[in-house]
Amino acid sequence: MSTQGPAFDADLFVIGGGSGGVRAARMAASRGARVVLAEAGGVAGLGGTCVNVGCIPKKLYSYAAHYAEAFEESHGFGWQGEPPRLDWARLKENRRNELQRLNGVYQKLLLGSGVEVLFGRARLLDAHTVQVDLEAGGDGTSRRITARHILVATGGRPEVPPFPGREHVLTSNEMFDLDPFPARLLVVGGGYIACEFASIFNGLGSKVTQLYRGPQVLRGFDDDVRAFVGVELVKKGIDLRLNAQVSAVERTAAGLRVTLQGGSTVMVDALLCATGRVPNVESLGLDAAGVAQGKDGAVLVDEQYRTSVPSIHAVGDVTARVQLTPVALGEAMVVVDRLFGPAAGKAPRSMDYELIPTAVFTHPSVGTVGMTEAQARKALGAIDVYRSDFKALKHTLSGSSERTLMKLIVDAATDRVVGLHMVGADAGEIVQGFAVAMKAGATKGDFDRTIGIHPTAAEEFVTLREPVTSGAWRQS
Ligand SMILES: Cc1cc2nc3c(=O)[nH]c(=O)nc-3n(C[C@H](O)[C@H](O)[C@H](O)COP(=O)(O)OP(=O)(O)OC[C@H]3O[C@@H](n4cnc5c(N)ncnc54)[C@H](O)[C@@H]3O)c2cc1C
Repeated sequence: MSTQGPAFDADLFVIGGGSGGVRAARMAASRGARVVLAEAGGVAGLGGTCVNVGCIPKKLYSYAAHYAEAFEESHGFGWQGEPPRLDWARLKENRRNELQRLNGVYQKLLLGSGVEVLFGRARLLDAHTVQVDLEAGGDGTSRRITARHILVATGGRPEVPPFPGREHVLTSNEMFDLDPFPARLLVVGGGYIACEFASIFNGLGSKVTQLYRGPQVLRGFDDDVRAFVGVELVKKGIDLRLNAQVSAVERTAAGLRVTLQGGSTVMVDALLCATGRVPNVESLGLDAAGVAQGKDGAVLVDEQYRTSVPSIHAVGDVTARVQLTPVALGEAMVVVDRLFGPAAGKAPRSMDYELIPTAVFTHPSVGTVGMTEAQARKALGAIDVYRSDFKALKHTLSGSSERTLMKLIVDAATDRVVGLHMVGADAGEIVQGFAVAMKAGATKGDFDRTIGIHPTAAEEFVTLREPVTSGAWRQS
């Protein structure tokens, strides 16, 4: 189906070839729309943050980091010999090759579905016109294209707060290709990206110090999860300093001297600042087109992802709402269904922000879906909390002191499980399945009636019998 008006060059112009943009472009083209997509990062930018400097490379490096403890733990299972050493250059090269492969897959998918792809930076000239400054390979010229609809899917970028010596600071974008490997790394931040990088580089062999200005890492997560992760990070060897902030950084012959507020210093080889991300809206022409923006320039949208300009929609991180790849994908599909109709025989999709499961790939990892205990108390009043903290079977022989935390929050009035949280191996893999049950309205009674898979950690979620009476989780 094509909704083109004769006056426009395209039915849909997508700005940004990341998670949301690629999905929207492909789906719209599959409905018969004439689609043009611009990506500022060239072929190597296709796939956006997730593929190039986010989810994928980070998870690959997290796997790499897990080997260090796996080699160590294997001794308890009878394996002998010295643990192998990390070849950082090889890891980086293998990652680069895999990402190049993925960039190629994305390009093929786009071209195969009939999307015209332009490599260059796009900006809005008005409500229906985009100018793309083609990158060098495209001979430095620019193209103007008119479109009936425009989708802004430009994502976000890391932001580093100002302090003296800020020029010495790295962001998550640069961490994947560091050269040389940092023997001493300071990670500033307490969010999921900071905690993941601290875990990864700690596992790979850096001496990691992590600073966070707040009282505990992972703000926004369940308080027991936060406390538990804080303890586990320290047990793994991370020097976690809470209520601490950087005041200045200077380069010396011995490395970077980082001065903290209060005057103490830390010497490191590299400093990662993972303290926040802002929408990618610079030079995007949002003003020219009259698109309303909120905090940090985020594009404001309604529940159908319409901006203040009817012909312009926006999805994903540029709207600074739930910043996760599956959410950007879901939003993109809602926009396409709305503009070009749903796929044959299907109802138009909608996006539901309730019960979005998510994982943090720390070591050990976090998996979570639904309300935190504090949110549930506030929203529901009477709740029952079930919690278990145990040593996984594997660690009875591995020699590791790692523990696992599982927690359920149940609405006392309806018996529905409204929050499910885990810290432990493969938490993301485990929580994904429980999220389906919770989406379907599972009650604690349903959990109790479910037979466990033995012996697994996950079976604990269906064998929790007695509610907690003792308040917050404490390290025993
Ligand atoms: C370190 C890290 C780890 C992450 N881990 C996870 C995870 O484990 N799970 C998860 O779900 N999410 C994760 N995320 C978040 C996830 O990557 C984002 O939510 C997702 O990529 C957002 O998709 P998007 O389409 O909004 O933007 P992006 O994927 O960022 O794509 C935007 C694209 O637009 C391009 N662009 C920008 N401006 C222009 C312009 N003017 N013209 C043309 N092109 C332009 C950019 O080059 C980019 O390719 C992680 C993010 C980071 C930084």
